[in-house]
Amino acid sequence: MSAPARTVRRAAQVEADVHVAVAIVGGGACGLTAALMLADAGIDCVVLERDALPSGSTALSSGFIPAPGTRVQRAHGVADDSAARFAADIQAKAHGRAAAALVDAYAHAIGPALDALQARHGLGWMLLDGFLYPGHSVHRMHALPQKTGAALMAALQSAVEAAGIPVLTQAVVDTLVLDAHDRVVGIDYLRPDGQHETLGCDALLLACNGFGGNTEMVRTLLPEMAEATFGGHVGNDGSAILWGESLGARLRDLGGYQGHGSWVTPQGALMSWAVMMEGGVQLNCDGRRFHDETLGYSEAAVHVLAQPGGIGWNVFDTPLLALARGFPDFCEAEAAGALRRCDSVAALADCIGCEAAVLQGTLDAMRGGVPAADGRVFARGLGAPYFAVKVTGALFHTQGGLDTAPDMRVLRQDGTPLPNLLAAGGAAGGVSGDAVWGYLSGNGLLSAVAGGYIAAHTAAALVQHKEASA
Ligand SMILES: Cc1cc2nc3c(=O)[nH]c(=O)nc-3n(C[C@H](O)[C@H](O)[C@H](O)COP(=O)(O)OP(=O)(O)OC[C@H]3O[C@@H](n4cnc5c(N)ncnc54)[C@H](O)[C@@H]3O)c2cc1C
Repeated sequence: MSAPARTVRRAAQVEADVHVAVAIVGGGACGLTAALMLADAGIDCVVLERDALPSGSTALSSGFIPAPGTRVQRAHGVADDSAARFAADIQAKAHGRAAAALVDAYAHAIGPALDALQARHGLGWMLLDGFLYPGHSVHRMHALPQKTGAALMAALQSAVEAAGIPVLTQAVVDTLVLDAHDRVVGIDYLRPDGQHETLGCDALLLACNGFGGNTEMVRTLLPEMAEATFGGHVGNDGSAILWGESLGARLRDLGGYQGHGSWVTPQGALMSWAVMMEGGVQLNCDGRRFHDETLGYSEAAVHVLAQPGGIGWNVFDTPLLALARGFPDFCEAEAAGALRRCDSVAALADCIGCEAAVLQGTLDAMRGGVPAADGRVFARGLGAPYFAVKVTGALFHTQGGLDTAPDMRVLRQDGTPLPNLLAAGGAAGGVSGDAVWGYLSGNGLLSAVAGGYIAAHTAAALVQHKEASA
């Protein structure tokens, strides 16, 4: 995709038939969460979404959101979690390179955000307590019972509809209108008939995610992912960053992203990393392991892409197959023919295309309690029958974006906040530092939901302040 035209024009005010308190660009988890929180605060808002039906990367995701201290987590008896512990886990994964103030803000906001979505909008979270995701020191991953991002989007959309919040679809926002004091006064958006329309607003939230769908930007900013499959929403074309560049806004952590080393190929589906965490391994076509799988699925994308053909094999056994089948994405991939059953080491070697003796050596090295060469300690070895799924490394979403204050206001180059322009979710710089290995599982929806929640409170305060001083 070539760079889309995303511009900024200057005007003291806009000529628009419609004026709203808060305009929100993007109808994914971030935009819809913000809209619901604004509605709860009695603030009118409009969501503008480029697609005919909002889906975004959120609908493609697994829909897993980490949060400490929720009602659901407490009801499961997990009492030893806190915002501080969560923040420490985020920073440990990012080697201390995640934006500290934002980590703190998100870690504190995400619990109340999930509780509010549950109590006020009927999202019935469950806690995923069967296994720990890499880097999380305690069970804090939440999901809806369907365990899919599509279900999360459907639930948010139902809630938005019930709250009577307008979502303007097929509206590609291309221009921000700011006055001479950098105050957003409106936006222009393109309709399917090629006409532009204008909306006036008192505050603007950019919730239009990152640049994963913009191949040119990926090539420039994330060269190691230039040829990788993009598993996210192609409409996320870097709009926020392009506007930020026009505005002279500060950008942050552009080298950060969520990769995934378990993208089933050629079926094109996600296989849960839970299988790796519980004892599965990744082998290359020589039948050898090539990294410590427990360190994280994001950096695993780079390791898999570095193998011959950019291919790896997820190898596991019967107990782990039962675990995998608990995930709808895996079931779809299995139904599409991704799963190979191999009753012996020789059959597994045939499947992978490697020498049986090499493979046998790899399996023999996985002895319970004995650290492997890369430091991974297995609880047990794998036993026949073996199962194998062919995978590659994929880019899921970008983590770099507009630099924001912890209240989600976009910052200028000098660090001062723009008066009424906010960014959150994938549109804003994330909490994963500036490299692939900094991504802790769930940082994406954490940024979207906590960021949307915080942005809504900031926007509400800005609008109420404007009303009070009018
Ligand atoms: C396969 C996969 C699995 C994942 N699983 C997880 C997971 O389990 N947990 C987790 O935390 N993260 C996960 N992620 C990451 C997660 O999906 C994203 O971080 C999150 O959905 C971002 O939410 P968002 O609201 O910022 O963006 P999105 O959901 O992408 O929404 C942005 C919206 O903005 C719209 N838009 C863009 N530009 C414009 C414009 N100019 N005008 C109008 N509209 C515009 C888009 O059409 C889109 O609907 C996964 C990602 C993938 C790809």
